[in-house]
Amino acid sequence: MDTAALTAWIREFARLIAANKELLTELDSAIGDGDHGVNMDRGLTAVVSALDAEPPETPSALFKKVGMTLISKVGGASGPLYGTAFLRMAAAAGDSVELGKVLRAGLDGVVARGKAEPGDKTMVDALRPAVEALEGGGSVQEAVRAAEQGRDATIPMVARKGRASYLGERSAGHADPGATSVTLLLKALEA
Ligand code: ADP
Ligand code: MG
Ligand code: MG
Repeated sequence: MDTAALTAWIREFARLIAANKELLTELDSAIGDGDHGVNMDRGLTAVVSALDAEPPETPSALFKKVGMTLISKVGGASGPLYGTAFLRMAAAAGDSVELGKVLRAGLDGVVARGKAEPGDKTMVDALRPAVEALEGGGSVQEAVRAAEQGRDATIPMVARKGRASYLGERSAGHADPGATSVTLLLKALEA
């Protein structure tokens, strides 16, 4: 993927976050503090403004701008985690981007920062299967399906990381908000 295609991807992610803001709010109200939709929408709105103001000329510059903007605007747990993911993606990106490779770098960044393991009921539970699908030669559609399955698999899980972990067993029965937003990041590739 080149800079134009990657920029279109990020813009579509921003659109999907805005369209699903209420859903993310509901999910985070059930097992967190209810701000994930607002946090992410504020961040991606700022990202779109930054892209409008000065369109990045390389994939690396694009991901760096996204990462820095998310870190400064999103806050909470998800701001630094998404921010780290995009900064790692910037470091892994060349002139043309191989999706599986950069998303692997992003996933590794999230894990390095947040120390979540599979099954902890976090964004990692949706991102990891998608990355593994791409690394295994799967299509974007297959990666999206893998993320969706990973997201849905968080429903019965008891959270072991982040605010939802304060609820203990009561965190079971709802999809994880971050697993839901990161599924939208994959879904944005299908546009
Ligand atoms: P906060 O919990 O600070 O209000 P958000 O509501 O924006 O932040 O984000 C919550 C999401 O962050 C969770 O649904 C989860 O997916 C993700 N998250 C929290 N802690 C971690 C962690 N240590 N590793 C990976 N993801 C995490
Ligand atoms: Mg929250
Ligand atoms: Mg919060």
